[in-house]
Amino acid sequence: MERYIMHVDMDAFFASVEQRDHEEYRGKPVIVGGQSVRGVVATASYEARAFGVHSAMPMAIARRRCPEGIFVSGNHAHYQEVSQQIFGIFHDFSPAVEALSIDEAFLDISGMEKLMKNCRAYGQKLKKKIYLQTGLIASVGIAPNKFLAKLASDLEKPDGLVIIASGEIKRVLWPLPISRLWGVGGKTEERLHRLGYENIGQVAQAGEAELCKNFGQKLSRQLVKLANGRDDRLVETEREAQSVGNEVTFEQDIVTQEEAEAALLALAEKVGWRLRRVNCCARTIQLKVRLGDFTTYTRSRTLSAATCYDEDIYGVARELFHALHVHSGIRLLGITGSSFDIYGQASLFEDNHKKEELYSAIDGLKKRFGYDIINHLNAKKKKDK
Ligand SMILES: [Mg+2]
Repeated sequence: MERYIMHVDMDAFFASVEQRDHEEYRGKPVIVGGQSVRGVVATASYEARAFGVHSAMPMAIARRRCPEGIFVSGNHAHYQEVSQQIFGIFHDFSPAVEALSIDEAFLDISGMEKLMKNCRAYGQKLKKKIYLQTGLIASVGIAPNKFLAKLASDLEKPDGLVIIASGEIKRVLWPLPISRLWGVGGKTEERLHRLGYENIGQVAQAGEAELCKNFGQKLSRQLVKLANGRDDRLVETEREAQSVGNEVTFEQDIVTQEEAEAALLALAEKVGWRLRRVNCCARTIQLKVRLGDFTTYTRSRTLSAATCYDEDIYGVARELFHALHVHSGIRLLGITGSSFDIYGQASLFEDNHKKEELYSAIDGLKKRFGYDIINHLNAKKKKDK
């Protein structure tokens, strides 16, 4: 089966959040970073980049290059909250999400056959959902592997969407400068230049034996592999992680028990789906509730048998929620499953066979038609009743 990896990277993330939240910053050079003497730039808006300001630059230089810039120290906790919202969207688009940083991730979208007929539409759908829910813009790259996907998301930044199909690798990759090769920077780049290599195609055509005359075998092999667009690293999914969680921040605080239960059910379905997709069961279910005034409660329960089923996760979360007796508006709800058992242990219990069949049918539909289909069907069913 051909692999499809999507790389999503938010454009000028911290600066864009500031511009979104402060109307008076829009269209202006905004520079987020440490304001002390030794501070560095964390993110510069595109308007600031036009002045030659970029991340990791000492703040003193940034001030010199862009005297009329808006300099803000930023609010990391706030960016973290926005990031969680964005990662929630990533998990709607793929069961295998690997975070690279606060605003960047790989999504393995292989095997979603129906969707794959049109990668571009899928990428556009993700970008649109991020924009509608957060007001922020992402760049997306889709390609057969991680290296090419990350390269693709950067090619038309900002607001980029680039797809590299397996038949186009040479055409797209070979004319690019060697600095675009993953892991090639500084010294290796300089040495390659001195040997007359300017673009990636020249490295690919030189071959491993030729490069070995000047570089170690390991590096030569790696360079030739990447220059030919080959990269077999996997998207590191939740199997390696310690927990699987989803949260939702409401546009307006919710007040009724029904709304809370509906949100918990939707969250339980997401967490269950993600657990099943990585063949894990969670023994501990944790509920998070944040009120309008930011008071935050977490409650958890450890089960006698681990589970990956929506209804079990929902049942526990619902009980924990009711035990809290929340009477004021709720800003955020979250469910996390942790303490993993490898999937399969649950089926030792005979009465799980039917459940397993049911869920594999549901998951099959989700995989074929996209995550939202089942939720739409459920919503329709409820309306029809
Ligand atoms: Mg970014």
